[in-house]
Amino acid sequence: MKKIFLMLVLTALAIGVFSSGAQKIKAEVPSETVDQVANGAKVLVLNYHQVGISFNPLTMPPQFFDEQMAYLVNSGYTSITPQELYDGICGVTVLPEKPVLITFDDGYVDNYTNAFPILQKYGLKATIFVVPAFTGVNYGYLTWDQLLEMEQGGITIQSHTLNHRALEELPDDEIRAELLESKQMLEENLGHPIEFLAYPTGTYNLHIASIARDVGYKAAYTIKYGNVDRGSNAYALERVPIFQQTNTMKAFYERIEYRQSFESFGWIKR
Ligand SMILES: [Zn+2]
Repeated sequence: MKKIFLMLVLTALAIGVFSSGAQKIKAEVPSETVDQVANGAKVLVLNYHQVGISFNPLTMPPQFFDEQMAYLVNSGYTSITPQELYDGICGVTVLPEKPVLITFDDGYVDNYTNAFPILQKYGLKATIFVVPAFTGVNYGYLTWDQLLEMEQGGITIQSHTLNHRALEELPDDEIRAELLESKQMLEENLGHPIEFLAYPTGTYNLHIASIARDVGYKAAYTIKYGNVDRGSNAYALERVPIFQQTNTMKAFYERIEYRQSFESFGWIKR
């Protein structure tokens, strides 16, 4: 049953990835800046949803999440923010040797109750892409107070659109409202610029990306499997989704450590 559910989730994610296609938008980076950046800087961007006890593949049990965070620290990874990733990829700053951006989508309350204490225990930064229309309203989602408290403790809050609607099915004015109003609502409540986006269900296309850019996002994250480097598109950044599955920890190590060898076979990009 659990396996079938996982297959369904993976299939849905794959459809999202493939339907989003190969549209490309290059970050606007001056070429002389790029030339100064060391080749091969790659950023691991992990994508989680819930952290709790459930058979849902998108829910990571806390003991596994703890083990995964311990593994990152013991393996020499340095956690970074979306702004640090952006600056590093643009060549404005130099990234640490093994950078990792830990992200959560949707803004579930267990990110506060279960994940936040573990992140704090290991001194790790993380980013939560929240749905502001759900914040403090829908049961099971984070409140504004929790968001503000976490931001004092190394967590960055960014946008996952206003209502988590399927953007590719919406007319332009509604896509624009989902992207812009979420940004404004988060900025009003949190008191800092919101410049990074994660597409709901990871689905995007060139048109949605161009609206995201027009309303003021600097970059946007998909669930396209891979790491972020100088070849990435600012509005189609790769992530590595992490699931609870039959052997969760083995799958975690494989997904994050085998990236390089998969890439060398050309199976990730191009
Ligand atoms: Zn989502």
